[in-house]
Amino acid sequence: MARPHAALAARAARSEVDLHSKDFADLLDLEDPLRKFRERFDLPRKGALPNVKLEAHEAAEECLYFSSLNLGLKPKEVDSAVQVQLEKWGALGVWTYAAEPYPILVCDSSGNEMMGRLVGADPRSVTMMNGLSVNLHLLFISFYQPTPQRYKILTEAGAFCSDMYALRSQAAMRGYDPSEAVIEVSPRPGEYTLRTEDILKTIEEQGGAIAVVCMSGVQYYTGQRFDMQAVTRAAQDAGALVGWDLAHAVGNVDLHLDAWGVDFAFWCLNKYLCGGPGAIGGAYVNRRHEGRRAAHLKGWWSNRDATRTEMRGECDTAEGVGGFRITTPSPILVAMACVSLRILDEAGMQRMLEKQFLLTGYLEELLKSRFRSSGGEEQLRIITPEDPAQRGCQLSILFPAGVAEVHARLQELGVVCDLRAPRVLRVAPAPLYNSFKDVFTFVQVLLEATKGSPWTT
Ligand SMILES: *Cc1c(COP(=O)(O)O)cnc(C)c1O
Repeated sequence: MARPHAALAARAARSEVDLHSKDFADLLDLEDPLRKFRERFDLPRKGALPNVKLEAHEAAEECLYFSSLNLGLKPKEVDSAVQVQLEKWGALGVWTYAAEPYPILVCDSSGNEMMGRLVGADPRSVTMMNGLSVNLHLLFISFYQPTPQRYKILTEAGAFCSDMYALRSQAAMRGYDPSEAVIEVSPRPGEYTLRTEDILKTIEEQGGAIAVVCMSGVQYYTGQRFDMQAVTRAAQDAGALVGWDLAHAVGNVDLHLDAWGVDFAFWCLNKYLCGGPGAIGGAYVNRRHEGRRAAHLKGWWSNRDATRTEMRGECDTAEGVGGFRITTPSPILVAMACVSLRILDEAGMQRMLEKQFLLTGYLEELLKSRFRSSGGEEQLRIITPEDPAQRGCQLSILFPAGVAEVHARLQELGVVCDLRAPRVLRVAPAPLYNSFKDVFTFVQVLLEATKGSPWTT
């Protein structure tokens, strides 16, 4: 894939502006087709954040927000959407269940079209339900059917802890020793990201023993986007099923679950999807698994919507992923999620990806050019892949030392990004509301925050 440096340098040259000047950031913002979307989100003020040490006039400014990989910002329209649900409850009591918008019996299907577009799936194969870790477990209970010959689960080393606990506990629940049953593919010595060839080789070598391959689509720590298509194909060729954790992938990279033939997937909506703290989760089951009813946990929400309130003695289980639902969804959480899904839909994933290419590329460009020793060596190491096809918004920056102090100083100056001790800062500019000026200013502030570090001299 083309590199953003070339595109940025060509654009700067065309207008005869310095690639590293603030004028260039302003130019890119002016040309940004998504620039109007920022107004639709609440950006926290610096002074409202903990640990900020700024004069009053600076404290009143919007913060520099790069933490959408933890929690996307709040769309302003969420207030009224939630208010409507509360008023409906107040005005109608139990009749709120039947009243628009988001009548409860069908509310969890409201986002299916939009979520389907984001993950590249038939809307009938996705649903909102529960939270991510719960969905992982529910899908595993059905899809992880270990036998003494084929019982292993393959994942990436350093996976998000919740996923690791979940996978190990799934193996243990079925009577397998998790330290043996869960295979972790690691980067090579001295490397931080995984090579696709190493994942494929492990699948080839251990394929006969692997029941499920379950990795993250985008790795939360390194920001690496795995080759989901190649891994899916290799795993299925080896006779395994494939489930993807899309927590850091959905709304961040292009996904084609149906075309890739993925078996199942799950995600949360609180990160790039801006569904709010504790947002309802998402799940996908490939339609070829419809009719597969074995080892399937059920509750009354597993019924088809049309028969749920008949209280039948036998569950009239909905087809496909709908049957995996167990419990009453919160229409408040669904309403919150749908507000931001609509905004994302309006912005369009294609435009977001085009902006991401430049925006994250611009961050990379500025970091590389500004943090150089007098000998010309790069002082910061970006461990996220350089190839834009192998990453999304996020860059993970590895510091030689002292990252906790740098992060503390960034907080004082009104920057929100993510510290992963001992040495990494994760920074994720979001195309939906971050500007090129945000990125430019961030790098200026980072220079200030690192001043005096032994490695910057
Ligand atoms: C954010 C995230 C989670 C969060 O799990 P919840 O069950 O929604 O709390 C889990 N796994 C990964 C990989 C994540 O990035």
